[in-house]
Amino acid sequence: MKIDIARRIATLPPYPFARIDELKAEQRKRGVDLIDLGIGDPDLPTPPHIVAALREAATVASHHRYPSYVGMMELRAAAAAFCKKRFGVTLDPASEVVTLIGSKEGIAHLPLALVDPGDVVLCPDPGYPVYAVGTQFCGGEVYPLPLRRANGFLPDLRAIPARVAASAKVIWVNYPNNPTAALAPRAFYEELVAFARAHEIVIASDLAYSEMYFGEEPPLSILEIPGARDVAIEFHSLSKTYNMTGWRVGFAAGNRELVGALGKVKTNVDSGVFEAVQVAAITALSGDQSCVVAQRQIYKDRREALCGTLRRAGFDVIVPEATFYALLACPSGMTSLDYAGKILETAGVVVTPATGFGPTGEGFVRLTLCADEKRLAEAAARLIKMG
Ligand SMILES: *Cc1c(COP(=O)(O)O)cnc(C)c1O
Repeated sequence: MKIDIARRIATLPPYPFARIDELKAEQRKRGVDLIDLGIGDPDLPTPPHIVAALREAATVASHHRYPSYVGMMELRAAAAAFCKKRFGVTLDPASEVVTLIGSKEGIAHLPLALVDPGDVVLCPDPGYPVYAVGTQFCGGEVYPLPLRRANGFLPDLRAIPARVAASAKVIWVNYPNNPTAALAPRAFYEELVAFARAHEIVIASDLAYSEMYFGEEPPLSILEIPGARDVAIEFHSLSKTYNMTGWRVGFAAGNRELVGALGKVKTNVDSGVFEAVQVAAITALSGDQSCVVAQRQIYKDRREALCGTLRRAGFDVIVPEATFYALLACPSGMTSLDYAGKILETAGVVVTPATGFGPTGEGFVRLTLCADEKRLAEAAARLIKMG
């Protein structure tokens, strides 16, 4: 029998990093000592007090059963307390917070709660691919919002045609941003909330990098903006903050109808997060945050080793104020894919063509700070040698 794959899968765009993966495998086979700055996955371990909490919770038999769909009340309360302390935002844990199996899960599932076939969803370009894919899985139409360097990698809301704004259902934003590392100022969020309220569009804000910043001013939650609670849902992740990408735990918070609708999707498709992991997440969110402070310093030192060095050597690298990403501009006349290929083959450094996140990423490759300072210094030296 010929297996007839559904259109939603068959029409997915081709995997954008296939050529880089091929080159990577080739170089590895030849014994090249590759420095992989391609993937945004922390190389640092989860802090020991969080691992200890999991270890202990794993021995408690009651945690071995099906968890609650929307998450343990204690975890939702810890998430609300975290948001109160960090952003000054008051949330009702029972109705305004839902636990997620990593924020990617909630990001992918939100469209099931909001998007009918033909509905328009505004997605950043370049952006985390899950916003667009989740939309397409529901038969929604993606309308890309170009993020350009000249505009601080913020979408130009005034450039959205009136008919698009009128038909749009959801707008995705993500600051601190992957892949550009841009931050959003308060004025942008205020404009966004006014825009969304005027056109009755739901704001879905991905705040995965809220704690990974280097300046004096911590990134904002959109829920701090007056009126946001009427239109916004925000996605939080423990993955990058506490080096817990493998643990699969995060949460969404905000407008209670939106949180409720996402919770309803989840009761029908999953059975929640292993309770022992939830206990560890409570420890992470409510425990001592000095591990997060120490980590910021580590990334800051790494940023200097890579970006500071490259910048002084004349490279057009955008030194990040947040996240562990840095965009490097391609030499003129070279595409992102060509430049990434050249860097891999000549310098043995793996970087990501920013076009993998959308066509407006053209002209940049993305580097990560997910390697130790010595390796990053070595990567910088190899790039400088390459010229
Ligand atoms: C890493 C990342 C996430 C979240 O990951 P989870 O591990 O699923 O919580 C979400 N959004 C962006 C932009 C990311 O880079």
